[in-house]
Amino acid sequence: MYVRPLRSTVSDNWFYLVVDGDSALLVDPIDPGVAVAAARDSGASRFSIVATHWHPDHVGGNDAVAAALGAAVFAPTAADAPEIRRDHTLRGGDLVEVGASRWLVLHVPGHTSDHIALLCESPEDGHGPALLSGDLLFVAGIGNTRLGGDTPTLAATVRRTLCASGADALPDATRFFPGHDYAARNLDFILSVEPDNAEARRRREAVSGVPSAPTLTTLGEERSYNPFLRLDDPTLQARVLGRPDAAPVAPGLDDDATRTFATLRALRDRF
Ligand SMILES: [Zn+2]
Repeated sequence: MYVRPLRSTVSDNWFYLVVDGDSALLVDPIDPGVAVAAARDSGASRFSIVATHWHPDHVGGNDAVAAALGAAVFAPTAADAPEIRRDHTLRGGDLVEVGASRWLVLHVPGHTSDHIALLCESPEDGHGPALLSGDLLFVAGIGNTRLGGDTPTLAATVRRTLCASGADALPDATRFFPGHDYAARNLDFILSVEPDNAEARRRREAVSGVPSAPTLTTLGEERSYNPFLRLDDPTLQARVLGRPDAAPVAPGLDDDATRTFATLRALRDRF
């Protein structure tokens, strides 16, 4: 099994081709030309498509790719999300099979109410678990909540699944494959909030002048410097909640970690 990152030529998305034997899965194949060429190139003969969430920059290529490859579209659902093409519905706890590899569907709402991620817990490529994270997690950042999202819901999802202390925390060795690469801008934002974040500064220098790349870090690395995953850090909390523009205590924002998250999210929206 391998995961091949693909760069969209019609938007700023990254999307992914998972190949195992004669089976291939395309995740959010927004650029049909690139997607179909890569799928055919893989040598696979059985194709399927997964949508991580309803946003047009993720599902807009599905009809064309499905028609070209004879692929079925597997997509999540939520009562308040717009209807999208869905040949099969995915829910949290479902398994998606690609050849011999098994991908667990995680329902990770917040960026949108229907958002899912796919987790391969024990890939046979000798590396750590692989997480196809859509717009949940980015290098040095986190998804926004501006289009059908909800910030307290996203904070709860992040604390449960991505933070080191979360109830369903994933291992540090988890490699994640995000739907966009905003690393340089995200690192600039971190340094605007935490000028003394040495790891962010080192990474900002490392990405200067380097072409966009989708997969740079593991979840353990993100937990070490990405403030959206350090919500229980007392120094970060004091710094963020001490700002005059900190999120007020409100329903869903009644603990310091969630208010820290909401304040960071609002600041990043304006950055
Ligand atoms: Zn999105």
